[in-house]
Amino acid sequence: MADFDVAIVGAGAGGALAAAMLGRAGHRVCLIDPAREVGSQFRCEKLEAAHIGALRRAGLLDAIAGQGERYDTIWIARQGHLVERRPRTEYGFDYAQLVTALRESVPATVERIVDQVTAVTPKADASTLTLAEGQALSARLVVLATGLQPALAESMGMSRRVVSANHSISIGFDVAPVGRARFDFDALTYFGEHPEHRVSYITFFPVQDHVRANLFVYRDRNDPWLGHFRRDPVAAIGEVLPRLHKLTGAFEILDTPRMRPVDLVDTVGLDKPGMVLIGDAFSTACPVSGTGAAKALVDAERLCNGFVPGWLKQREITAADVAGFYADPEKVASDQFSRNLSLSAKRLALEPSLAWEAYRWVRFAGSVGRNVLASLRQPHHPHGAARS
Ligand SMILES: Cc1cc2nc3c(=O)[nH]c(=O)nc-3n(C[C@H](O)[C@H](O)[C@H](O)COP(=O)(O)OP(=O)(O)OC[C@H]3O[C@@H](n4cnc5c(N)ncnc54)[C@H](O)[C@@H]3O)c2cc1C
Repeated sequence: MADFDVAIVGAGAGGALAAAMLGRAGHRVCLIDPAREVGSQFRCEKLEAAHIGALRRAGLLDAIAGQGERYDTIWIARQGHLVERRPRTEYGFDYAQLVTALRESVPATVERIVDQVTAVTPKADASTLTLAEGQALSARLVVLATGLQPALAESMGMSRRVVSANHSISIGFDVAPVGRARFDFDALTYFGEHPEHRVSYITFFPVQDHVRANLFVYRDRNDPWLGHFRRDPVAAIGEVLPRLHKLTGAFEILDTPRMRPVDLVDTVGLDKPGMVLIGDAFSTACPVSGTGAAKALVDAERLCNGFVPGWLKQREITAADVAGFYADPEKVASDQFSRNLSLSAKRLALEPSLAWEAYRWVRFAGSVGRNVLASLRQPHHPHGAARS
């Protein structure tokens, strides 16, 4: 008999959610990660519709979302104009806070192992895992949720295929208005004004006791604008988003901005028995799409609700069983949505052709139309219709 029903390698967003769900379902589970505490890192910083849906289906929405900063209206600006005050509930989070909340919802029956997995021998009846400290253990199913660290998957003959190198650069920082107690909005998403600026969008949203900003640009790692940003971030933002100040007023940056260049990658060679990859270990998303963590949560939710209970009743978990998870319609839809958005957002921001310019104006008109309809449906809406 294997030591565990399921060994989960990696306690990030995907691994921690899987551990919480499988532990609550009464399976014998271990969760292995070398980091006891989640360190501060610039990753997903808000829960949007897809994250919220996956957490709801996992039965953990209240426990997790309650620890974030809720906001219910998002101002949307396109082509330099405020076009929509979108009624939508989201939650601002620090990534460490989000993963800590997920880890805290893992029941005590799940064995927590603070160590690094250095080798896995996947087999249909029971796989063997070797830890850095030398311990070996066995599990009927291994869930590889190791995020962006490819070493373990590569040691089993899998490899990473780069779909788009240096796809985008994400920049995160804390902001505050100058001369006023607060911004006029709860949250703002402001799209790039012109392709020559190479900006997808900047978003402002509340996190704990302050306002956080994420700026997404499409630039080479050696682009001089990035050096300008490091020296004088407010001026550099003004250069590429010249009308932003009309909505934000003057603002200051409170910390040292964090920059993360991102490649889009897939893992290939997944056909292993008794082992499944989820989240970034399976494939990555561009942060512009806001779908990477959502994808990890959807993977964990689909795996634990739709597949693991049946697999654990079988004598073996074959590569064909695991392929069934990769082909799950909801997982495929989540992966495709994420990848399509990651690729199309870049074209939407950068393509100078007339066709794309027309498409940008179609989206502008769509936002205006939605805003008018929303204000007609809610004649006493506190914000009224957008004046653009
Ligand atoms: C700058 C930036 C901004 C982003 N913004 C968004 C956003 O707005 N919305 C969104 O949805 N997504 C966003 N993402 C993507 C999102 O953060 C990731 O897709 C998500 O965090 C992936 O979760 P995961 O569980 O797959 O991996 P991770 O959270 O990276 O967890 C992997 C874990 O595996 C552990 N591990 C690795 N190797 C081993 C090993 N050998 N043994 C044991 N443990 C191991 C690590 O210690 C780590 O804890 C962003 C990403 C970046 C970089």
